[in-house]
Amino acid sequence: MKYTIDQNGYYGKFGGAFIPELLHPPVEELKEAFYAIKNDEDFKESYLNLLKDYVGRPTPLFYAERLSKKYDAHIYLKREDLNHTGAHKINNTIGQILLAQKMGKKEIIAETGAGQHGVATATVCALMGMECKVFMGEVDIERQAPNVARMKMLGAEVIPAKSGSKTLKDATNEAIRFWINNPSTYYIIGSVVGPHPYPEMVAHFQSIISEEIRTQLFEKTGKVNPDAVIACVGGGSNAAGAFYHFLDEQVDLIIAEAAGHGVETGKSAATSILGTEGVIHGSKSLLMQTEDGQIVEPHSISAGLDYPGIGPLHAHLIETKRAKVFAITDQEAVDAAFDLSRTEGIIPALESAHAFAVLEKISFKNQTIVINLSGRGDKDLSTYMKFL
Ligand SMILES: *Cc1c(COP(=O)(O)O)cnc(C)c1O
Repeated sequence: MKYTIDQNGYYGKFGGAFIPELLHPPVEELKEAFYAIKNDEDFKESYLNLLKDYVGRPTPLFYAERLSKKYDAHIYLKREDLNHTGAHKINNTIGQILLAQKMGKKEIIAETGAGQHGVATATVCALMGMECKVFMGEVDIERQAPNVARMKMLGAEVIPAKSGSKTLKDATNEAIRFWINNPSTYYIIGSVVGPHPYPEMVAHFQSIISEEIRTQLFEKTGKVNPDAVIACVGGGSNAAGAFYHFLDEQVDLIIAEAAGHGVETGKSAATSILGTEGVIHGSKSLLMQTEDGQIVEPHSISAGLDYPGIGPLHAHLIETKRAKVFAITDQEAVDAAFDLSRTEGIIPALESAHAFAVLEKISFKNQTIVINLSGRGDKDLSTYMKFL
């Protein structure tokens, strides 16, 4: 089985580029520019220099001793929570802003739901002196006020999406509409979704996570491969990065997705179980939709997992049974967040907490496992406080 992308931008039967005619030229331009830098040493050096001095990489691989005792396993945490801006998303925005710069772009657009990707984009735009517009649903602007303030502080313009449910999918539609009318703009997509080459490009820029895990695990254990890697999946970028260098290895890949109130309750974001094949945001994948193809509003306590689709790579990993999926409820994620906080002194993002909840679902007796701690929990304190 092959897990890399094929020439037409497909992982198995998922992926591709389902875009309006008017976007063909800018997407083609992007594809050429990305493949020109993908294996370019100078580009990689600029990218790694910024990751080191600006983002704070490599992030540590921490042996969680008390958690390991509790679950009778050897548990390592990949500390993406220690990145500048608090999550893995900056790895991708650093890569894409360097590419935009190389392409001579002056204006950046992005979509955001929870605001995390918006903040990561506004951050790198400030760093590079580029103009930044972030599209965000009107409802999300109200729900995520602190991140809206951060984006504005960083000099970005936050543009409300007022159509539909006024959330992420509407913000994405607005961003695409803007791009059609302004094809010289660079559109930074925040996860492994969107038309080819975005899923591959974002996975490429996030693959630094598993590249570091291999080196760090070898230093600590003498082996480059763990028995399993666990990551949460919204669109799938942190998981793609954590899985990347293990795709063809003897390593179990475990996805934690958001079950919300429960898979059967109608208030869920468990795309792998509830999703069917369709086109979302320019690629063919699994998505939650009605019989006539309307997107079903997802629900998760964690804004970053509250997405009705999943990237094409993950759809392929799930369909071929290369990856195992566990659907984690809101309550299970909150319990896991409290458990990690009190066992290891680390408050995780609600998204990341879903990955830790998998520890309660299967036994990893004596196994070496890596959990991708995709972000820190400061942004979620108002939610956690309701459970104190
Ligand atoms: C955005 C976000 C996610 C979900 O996005 P992916 O693309 O699936 O990684 C997960 N964790 C954190 C901390 C996030 O900010």
